[in-house]
Amino acid sequence: MNKPLKQHLIDPEICIRCYTCEMTCPEEAIVHDDMNVVVDASKCNFCMDCIPVCPTGSIDEWRVVAEPYSVDEQFEWTELPEQEEMGASQDTSIEAMDEAMAALLAEAHAGAGGKAKAPASASKPSINMYTLGKPAEATVQGNYRLTAEGSDTDVRHIILDFGGQPMPVLEGQSIGIIPPGTDADGKAHLPRLYSVSSPRDGERPNYNNVSLTVKREEQGLCSNYVCDLKPGDKVKVTGPFGATFLIPDDPEARLLMICTGTGSAPMRSFTMRRQRTVGARSGGMVMFFGARSPDALPYFGPLKKVPQSLLHQHLVFSRLDGQPKEYVQDRMRAEEDEVADLLQDPKTHIYICGLRGMEEGVEKAFTNIAESIGEQWTALRDTMRGEGRYHVETY
Ligand SMILES: Cc1cc2nc3c(=O)[nH]c(=O)nc-3n(C[C@H](O)[C@H](O)[C@H](O)COP(=O)(O)OP(=O)(O)OC[C@H]3O[C@@H](n4cnc5c(N)ncnc54)[C@H](O)[C@@H]3O)c2cc1C
Repeated sequence: MNKPLKQHLIDPEICIRCYTCEMTCPEEAIVHDDMNVVVDASKCNFCMDCIPVCPTGSIDEWRVVAEPYSVDEQFEWTELPEQEEMGASQDTSIEAMDEAMAALLAEAHAGAGGKAKAPASASKPSINMYTLGKPAEATVQGNYRLTAEGSDTDVRHIILDFGGQPMPVLEGQSIGIIPPGTDADGKAHLPRLYSVSSPRDGERPNYNNVSLTVKREEQGLCSNYVCDLKPGDKVKVTGPFGATFLIPDDPEARLLMICTGTGSAPMRSFTMRRQRTVGARSGGMVMFFGARSPDALPYFGPLKKVPQSLLHQHLVFSRLDGQPKEYVQDRMRAEEDEVADLLQDPKTHIYICGLRGMEEGVEKAFTNIAESIGEQWTALRDTMRGEGRYHVETY
């Protein structure tokens, strides 16, 4: 069998036939007929020059294929083919490593209980612009500790500046950081994924910068590298990644966000997006956020400044002196009426993010709360997921 390869395609349903990509491509790999603008796989070298110039985002489509689609085949298309199932590959090529990132994400989204789907009104994400073979280089602008100095949980707010390189990330997407050096076999380390915690217009509005929320893991290779970065350091970045864990652009959508630890990263980006765009006029946001203690809860101080009218916050602590342990699922049950009201509203979107261990308790809480309103949780969840309203990212 041929080695699977990644093929660059253009979505004929979205393309407006402006030919900007064709004029930009230095390899003359983009051609058109009366029907379609298409990419010739035998010429495309993944230089990515065409990606930022496309006004619609139709240029940013990729399929892993055993045999590339020919130009003539693509001229006939009225819509893109689905991604075909590919067999497991032991390949260690750059393409296969980028597929490894996709596999990591698929695993992170497995807790949704089926194929994840983006919200209907979400913006179209750019993905895979920068790869292990051709990463972006960001400059560190800041590295701030988010948890109290005495706390044994070290979580950092890292700001990366991309200068003139396009990095069009949407809230809920992740980027990959490549730790420097090589492994015991002399191969480059695989990138680690980190959720973006800033909104699409930048950590600072209209700056080409992105923030991350990174927890130092004992003996962790990449997290220690990132947590020790200093302003001015250069970092190799891949991505963006992720096309489903996205915020609806519909301002009336209601967001129910459940997170622990660094799972707060995408929730911060969602909150800032809404603060900067629709403010308190939005459909509303409710957050259940768990940590051991206030000292260990990233963004505890800044969160206190976000009005409850914009973001109804339930901060839940499992290690408070003299108090019983409380986890997010316990508070969800305690606030059953509020959660049940959200479950019954077709405008509600659920986001769960954090350590994998949180899933079971949250699922059980949803099961109980759904029962209280005469619903079966798994059926409700399947409906929500199918409508792009149920999203899980755990790692
Ligand atoms: C979709 C997605 C989004 C993510 N978002 C975030 C985020 O926003 N923030 C965040 O902090 N993380 C996030 N992660 C997790 C992140 O990608 C990394 O997995 C994490 O930072 C650990 O990477 P590392 O290189 O430091 O650890 P690795 O070196 O890969 O080690 C993994 C684990 O093994 C342990 N370990 C390593 N070496 C040893 C040893 N010699 N002995 C004993 N134990 C050892 C480490 O403690 C660590 O827990 C995300 C993951 C996914 C999949």
